[in-house]
Amino acid sequence: MNRPLQSTSSEPWPPEGVDVFRSARRTRTVQARHAGERIEVRIPARFSEREEREAVAEILAKLKRRSTSNAVSDDDLLARAEKLNAQVLDGKARIGSVRWASNHNTQWGSCTVSTGDIRISDRLRDVPDWVVDAVVVHELVHTFIPGHGPRFWEWADKVPRAERAKGFLEAYQRFGPS
Ligand SMILES: [Zn+2]
Repeated sequence: MNRPLQSTSSEPWPPEGVDVFRSARRTRTVQARHAGERIEVRIPARFSEREEREAVAEILAKLKRRSTSNAVSDDDLLARAEKLNAQVLDGKARIGSVRWASNHNTQWGSCTVSTGDIRISDRLRDVPDWVVDAVVVHELVHTFIPGHGPRFWEWADKVPRAERAKGFLEAYQRFGPS
């Protein structure tokens, strides 16, 4: 059965490379993330077809703007970690590897102290750069200070906008993507 569309456009929906999911849990927020080569967009289940098109177009535009500045590859992430180590931590961190990882359910990042291998949750791929920086610096500090004592925070809080990043992550944990 043909569904009547307001648009006269013959372009496919959803757009090429995009998957749209309707979520009953979502009330008004729209969220998009990279999933390999594709982009997954989540919208509230109650959205009309028109609202869906508008919301998806809007978030894809936003994602495009962000990806020009975000560290999208592992190489970018490593380069960023090295830069932050030099600029914020006086080069004290011992970096083995830095990579995005998808197996972090509750953590934003992890660090294996013995090897200096750092993993950053790919749930953070689409958050602002300064938030990722705070998570990277947090894990970098763990390469030379275990635990979260006062000395740890003395270093970790040197990252620009440290407090704002903590607030952002708290809210993102509650209302952001799951
Ligand atoms: Zn920690």
